[in-house]
Amino acid sequence: MSAPQVLLGTTLPDVDVWSPRVTVALGQNPSLFTGPGTNTYLVGTGRDRILLDTGQGIPAYLPVLAQALERAGCGIQEIVLTHGHFDHIGGAAAVIDRYGALRVSKRPHTKFDEPWPVAITPIGDGDVVRTDGATLRAMHTPGHAEDHLCYVLEEERAIFSGDNVLGVGTTVIPSEGGDLLDYMSSLERMRAEEPTAIYPAHGPVIRDGRAKIREYIEHRIQREQEILAALRADLHGIPEIVARVYAAYPVALHMPARASVCSHLLKLEREGRVRRSGDAPLEAHWALA
Ligand SMILES: [Zn+2]
Repeated sequence: MSAPQVLLGTTLPDVDVWSPRVTVALGQNPSLFTGPGTNTYLVGTGRDRILLDTGQGIPAYLPVLAQALERAGCGIQEIVLTHGHFDHIGGAAAVIDRYGALRVSKRPHTKFDEPWPVAITPIGDGDVVRTDGATLRAMHTPGHAEDHLCYVLEEERAIFSGDNVLGVGTTVIPSEGGDLLDYMSSLERMRAEEPTAIYPAHGPVIRDGRAKIREYIEHRIQREQEILAALRADLHGIPEIVARVYAAYPVALHMPARASVCSHLLKLEREGRVRRSGDAPLEAHWALA
């Protein structure tokens, strides 16, 4: 899932080759949350390659995957997933139905994994999945989702970023299972890898990964400064803070922006920099600590 506002209208080809090791097959499920759709990747150079993510399980995906396999001239060795949100795991069962009993590896998550009729092979931080021409090293990068793994493609020093860094829009920190403090740590871990390219789950390839991660970190820091300034200006409710911080944006975006401001306040609370009265974070009265 990613932020809706700038994603609609982005179109990408169904199948494309982004590097000698990376063929992308787009699960065309355009929506507010997936933009043009979910990118799925064939990774490697051999006869059988790794399929990274599977889209959300719409019928239109299988012909696109078939086209990508034909273009790459390969079959599927196994499936690895970035995380258990529906638009990444949802297509796995159909791929297995069509191509046989493939191993599906991800970081386990009881609630996310449970709805899908797929046996999960657990992997976690530092685990490596190999195929001809490609070595994928998993990095646990929570924040958008607790089970989120990015994968470093060692041969290119590139990163498959899942939903942590996107080709369009900004990552949503969901109120359920999301955590902005974890997310910022995950961005720092990704930055420390000094990636060349980033292959995101939504939107086009990012050729300068380092610059994009820096931009993501700076964007969040700037937003945090604006929220702290609003608190100093005696605004204490999220709707009022949003009205000030997002004054330049269309009012239609103010509702979804509440969740974003809320994720910032929860991060600041964990850091001991703000406090709230009231249990429900969205309705609470927030103040500087
Ligand atoms: Zn997601």
